[in-house]
Amino acid sequence: MGKFSIAIDGPAGAGKSTVARALAKRLGYIYVDTGAMYRAMALHFIRNGIAEDDFAAMETACDTAEVTIIHTDGEQAVLLNGENVNGFIRTEQVSHMTSVSSVNQKVRLKMVELQRGLAVKENVVMDGRDIGSYVLPDADRKIFLTASVEVRAKRRYDEQKAKGTECSLAEIEESIRERDYRDSHREFAPLVQAEDAVYVDTSGLTIEEVTEELYRLCRGGRG
Ligand code: C5P
Repeated sequence: MGKFSIAIDGPAGAGKSTVARALAKRLGYIYVDTGAMYRAMALHFIRNGIAEDDFAAMETACDTAEVTIIHTDGEQAVLLNGENVNGFIRTEQVSHMTSVSSVNQKVRLKMVELQRGLAVKENVVMDGRDIGSYVLPDADRKIFLTASVEVRAKRRYDEQKAKGTECSLAEIEESIRERDYRDSHREFAPLVQAEDAVYVDTSGLTIEEVTEELYRLCRGGRG
């Protein structure tokens, strides 16, 4: 029998990564944060001085970026050409470049191949935008996790504040709206709820409540 896979999709700030990580831990599965892979690729483009509208240069640079992920004690580290770049991929500059560059089909196909390869080898909880709809259409469980833009922006704002980063709630909200729009309107593998995905709105729920709800939906094996 093949491996068990859980696909969690949804927009930025819905709580996907926190919940997916907790769920994977509870189930003893590998957590795969596909956003981190696109972020590593975007970092590669930034480091190579590529402009955000230069898709030809991005496609060429794709060939010189080896993105891999490794897991130690259940935690994912993203390697870009062998370097652990976890500490460099969460800035607003990288978020923006990621949202722009992940529209490109060549960039996406490279990441999708890697993601499918992981799901063949391991039991996974994989989060992203197109996992249930495109990357793993036969996933055993599919969840579409979302929350209102206001709630998602406030969560990001609180996260940044807690890290001591100066930021504006209005700017974060604007950037989330922009990313939502780009993610859902791109031509190839856009952010969309798969027909067979369970819709979960996390607006009024705590992380613990969402994790519990997903665990309830995912435990009990196939079927
Ligand atoms: O999930 P996270 O916010 O880290 O993702 C960063 C960006 O990567 C998203 O805004 C989206 O543009 C892109 N992404 C994607 N497909 C995925 C995961 C992320 O296009 N499966």
